[in-house]
Amino acid sequence: MPGIVIIGAGECGIRAALTAREAGYDGPITVLGDEAALPYERPLLSKPNSGGVVEKLIATREALDDMSITLETDVSVTAIDRDERMVVRAQGDPLPFRKLLLATGARARRLSCPGGDRARVLRTMEDARAIYSAAGTARSAVIVGAGLIGLELAAELTGRGLGVTVLEAGPRPLGRNVPERLASKLTTRHQQAGVEVLCGVQVASCTESDVVLEDGRAIAADLIVAAIGVEPNVELAVSAGLTIQNGIRVDRRLVTDDPDILAAGDCAAVEMRSGLHLRYETWQNAQAQGEVAGRNLAGGNKEFDVPVWFWSDHYEIGLQGVGDTSGQPAASREMGRDSEILFFLNDAGALIGAAGLGQGSAVAKDIKIAQRLIGTTLDPVLLSDPAHNLKKLLRAA
Ligand SMILES: Cc1cc2nc3c(=O)[nH]c(=O)nc-3n(C[C@H](O)[C@H](O)[C@H](O)COP(=O)(O)OP(=O)(O)OC[C@H]3O[C@@H](n4cnc5c(N)ncnc54)[C@H](O)[C@@H]3O)c2cc1C
Repeated sequence: MPGIVIIGAGECGIRAALTAREAGYDGPITVLGDEAALPYERPLLSKPNSGGVVEKLIATREALDDMSITLETDVSVTAIDRDERMVVRAQGDPLPFRKLLLATGARARRLSCPGGDRARVLRTMEDARAIYSAAGTARSAVIVGAGLIGLELAAELTGRGLGVTVLEAGPRPLGRNVPERLASKLTTRHQQAGVEVLCGVQVASCTESDVVLEDGRAIAADLIVAAIGVEPNVELAVSAGLTIQNGIRVDRRLVTDDPDILAAGDCAAVEMRSGLHLRYETWQNAQAQGEVAGRNLAGGNKEFDVPVWFWSDHYEIGLQGVGDTSGQPAASREMGRDSEILFFLNDAGALIGAAGLGQGSAVAKDIKIAQRLIGTTLDPVLLSDPAHNLKKLLRAA
């Protein structure tokens, strides 16, 4: 009997499978993933512990068996036959579906300059093992890209005793998703740890021993890692004739142009209330969209409407953000021990986002509260006052 088929055994795909079952769907559920490993938590790849890469499973084989969810690993889906309602695997017979979820995620962008194939990337467990193994004998590392993953890796490699240089083409680190003030504090912490951060530079080539910049400078590099963002895995959707718009375009119920095919997680550009289609690349988004997709695969009619939250860890510092933090902050809450939260309001004075930086998880509780306050009109004076408990604002909302 054709059932639910999910392509991609990452956070989103597994979460969708579990949710569909929890929502009462009692037909077959099959998850197809092209990695050999059992589904694992990707964020830990750039946050290893002294024992090496942390391999934390999203769900064990037993847990999936208990829910009668079939997981096929090391299986690549090569095509979707929409007329026959089947997915084609690299090996084995085509698999029929009643409902299909594309949770194909994203892949790391690679350096395209001469010698760029010397640069490793960090997306999979295999990538992580290769990088940390190479770091064991390397003295110097160049990381191309001062985004969250590049800088997390810089902290880790510096801690292992390597001389680390981070190269950024933009005018500042973390320009894509972290408010300038917090990015600047975090960069200072990296520099204190000995990381050299060069902004406004372009890589011309990679040689056996160096990364050569367009201005002619050569930076010694036993290990090179490109951390220059990701590309959504949309090829299956393209060849199936589905609309792509910086990701697989879906409506608020995560449905593509085809009512029986959904897409979610890093690969999906989801319609927001504003009408814009946005694609997020965070763990909580993959989980939250996976849950909505799972409900809808099981016959539900749920919309995705969760403010996207992310975290990132560098040395002893934790960074967290939620919602839209792209504009100028309307309020700043100084919380002692170098911890600070910035709040972002829209023209009507309603909270649209917050981002904070602090020791360990110092800002975590308040960012969680801020997530629940999104959409509430708030007084910037109260937001700035650390003596005014955010919970009070939540109770009053
Ligand atoms: C090193 C690293 C650190 C990160 N740290 C953080 C963090 O601190 N905080 C945070 O919020 N987010 C973090 N993220 C981002 C977060 O991990 C991702 O947003 C999340 O994993 C996306 O989940 P997903 O299921 O949508 O996609 P993925 O995890 O990419 O899973 C998709 C799966 O589908 C498979 N697939 C693709 N095509 C096919 C096919 N044709 N057939 C079969 N299988 C296929 C892929 O191989 C992959 O296994 C980090 C990511 C990385 C790489």
